[in-house]
Amino acid sequence: MQTRIYIKDLSQHIGEEVIIKGWIDVRRDQGKMIFFDFRDVTGKVQGVVLPKPKTPVAEGIPGSQSANLHDVGSKVRTEWVVAVKGKVNKRPDRAVQKDKQNGDIELEVLDIVVLNEAETPPFDVGSEGKEIGEDVRLKYRYLDLRRPRMQKNIINRHKTLQYIRDFYSKEGFFEVETPNMTKSTPEGSRDYIVPSRLDQGKFYALPQSPQQYKQLIMSGGFEKYFQIARCFRDEDSRGDRQPEFTQVDIEMSFVVQEDVMAVNEKLLIGLVQTLYPEKKIQQIPFPRLSYDEAMKKYGNDKPDIRTDKNDPNLLAFCWVIDFPFFEKAEKGGNGDTGGGTGGWTFTHNPFSAPKPEYMPDLLAKNNIGGIVAAQYDIVLNGYEIGGGGIRNHTPEGLKKVFEIMGYAPERIEKNFGHMLKALASGTPPHGGLAFGFDRLMMLLQNEPNIREVIPFAKNGEGKDLMMDSPSEVSLEQLRELGIRLAK
Ligand code: ASP
Repeated sequence: MQTRIYIKDLSQHIGEEVIIKGWIDVRRDQGKMIFFDFRDVTGKVQGVVLPKPKTPVAEGIPGSQSANLHDVGSKVRTEWVVAVKGKVNKRPDRAVQKDKQNGDIELEVLDIVVLNEAETPPFDVGSEGKEIGEDVRLKYRYLDLRRPRMQKNIINRHKTLQYIRDFYSKEGFFEVETPNMTKSTPEGSRDYIVPSRLDQGKFYALPQSPQQYKQLIMSGGFEKYFQIARCFRDEDSRGDRQPEFTQVDIEMSFVVQEDVMAVNEKLLIGLVQTLYPEKKIQQIPFPRLSYDEAMKKYGNDKPDIRTDKNDPNLLAFCWVIDFPFFEKAEKGGNGDTGGGTGGWTFTHNPFSAPKPEYMPDLLAKNNIGGIVAAQYDIVLNGYEIGGGGIRNHTPEGLKKVFEIMGYAPERIEKNFGHMLKALASGTPPHGGLAFGFDRLMMLLQNEPNIREVIPFAKNGEGKDLMMDSPSEVSLEQLRELGIRLAK
């Protein structure tokens, strides 16, 4: 059996007989001749079944049944999976299609073996897909992923992740995994919870981010950490939110705010220049605005500072810094996040440190509304694509934050005892940041929402329409967990 050749490599095999494997993208039956576009993950090529095949039955593909190539050629349909034996011919000059992949060659089909048939797809997989209802695309996502736009999105997502992994590794970061079954972290949202069977009545929480673990990794002495981390937040549906999403999460020891900003600015510039050379970064170094400036000038803290909003290839990054540490808590806030009785809650997360000059205020619980946090957001074209902060690395500082939020001492001990203990055990000064990776990919791929860059996205109501999830579980499963549903 000859080895299979990828379609992108066919032009290196002119004059040879080769085997390709893939899908029937297009089939045009002209009676005497049948034209095809064949497709694999690397691209497309035109093929033709000539009126009289030069070789009646080609040898070489096990299971070949094609005593009559024409019959098979007339039978196969789009999206059928085939192995094709063919001769790579150069096209005559007048038939060359310059701008098309493989536009200068054609595969003269000698044999077709059907590897799998396909039901008629519920929609066209060759189009951009924008004309198709999103729910039906998500229900048949495995088909939707075949469209060229989705192939490009997912493959570029892969390339971007590879770039990021490589970048941080070269900068001396270690990729460290953290658990998905953990305990509630206060990050401003509701937790997804997982009932324990062995310890009935108790629950794990899925992490809203690896915040506490990554700080504990600093305690653990690794100094520079990164992770491509899945995060889970139970929020009401919104356009660019998903119940689970991906963060590029980092943390560094012995750094100040400038160090964290510098390494991540370097990452973004390198990433765009390497993988998206057609795009232009509006300003390097990235401009910086204070929270107050942004609010005054743009009325929000994620300003779109593009000078030309019609240019799909313009990337206007900026940093927003100097956020207030605390804001007045809304009554009946989300889940366990604010929840204190102090009337204040954090604006980013409770682990941030104040800027050094405001540390005395924090420790004295003075000027609470005026304390500025060592916190920074990175904004791209009006979207917050990341944020982070320098952390409180002493137990005193962190304790004060919880006190200001009105947590009782027992609650601080119960929920954050492990953090306070770690901070009291030789934790270095540290800080970090996390990127919302789906949003970054959405903007780099010029997509209108993050579902277009997530392979198996949930719909706007948080449902996985393909798997039909969430769904009921059996009474037996519930019984094992000690759970009875309210009627
Ligand atoms: N854990 C934070 C977040 O999810 C990011 C950070 O402060 O590093 O927003």
